[in-house]
Amino acid sequence: MKVVILLGPPGSGKGTVAERLRGDKGGYVHFATGDMLREEVSNSTAVGQEAEGFMKRGELVPDEVIIRIVETRLEAGDPTAAYLFDGFPRTLVQADLLDESLAGRGAKIDYVFFLATPRDVILQRLTGRRVCKACGASFHVTNIPPAVEGVCDACGGELYQRKDDNEETIANRLEVYNRQTESLISRYEEKGLLVSLDSDQGVASLMAEIDAKLQSGVDA
Ligand code: AMP
Repeated sequence: MKVVILLGPPGSGKGTVAERLRGDKGGYVHFATGDMLREEVSNSTAVGQEAEGFMKRGELVPDEVIIRIVETRLEAGDPTAAYLFDGFPRTLVQADLLDESLAGRGAKIDYVFFLATPRDVILQRLTGRRVCKACGASFHVTNIPPAVEGVCDACGGELYQRKDDNEETIANRLEVYNRQTESLISRYEEKGLLVSLDSDQGVASLMAEIDAKLQSGVDA
């Protein structure tokens, strides 16, 4: 089991990087807790009903709910796959539980890619973001416009704006990130796992840096 974590504030490009790695290289399982939660909400499951209010307000869903989802999905998943965690872990409690859970599977984190992003770039990206309802691909009204407005280039699905991509909720999500998630940077730095990247350098050169690191092959 190979494990790569994408760490960074909302709008730092975690989903975009994950899509490229999934699309270009194959093999990686995109493990996005935000996508999983949105699926639970749209299916009106018990978990979805519990999570919905937190998500609307831009707050974190309680750790125990997240941990339940993560464990269930890991158990159902392929134990030999390469996992790309996107939006998880987001708290120290989640990070500890991930370490434990991986240890129980004889696995460990290979890399943590931290996508450093200036605040003005985050705001511009999130307010213009459009997401495919069918495949989850991300677009942007000006930065990455689809060939046909409102239609996904990849699968022809309908594009929509996430409910939490409005200015008020974005401000709260950033505040929550600073308060609860940012401390993970130093945790992974101390463990020698952190690879810091400038997320505002253009997707092609960002992906080249990530590919070079992944190709360097030798596990940390
Ligand atoms: P994202 O798609 O990663 O931006 O996540 C959207 C929302 O889902 C977040 O604002 C949180 O409310 C919730 N969420 C996603 N992942 C987590 C997590 N690991 N821990 C707590 N809440 C999460």
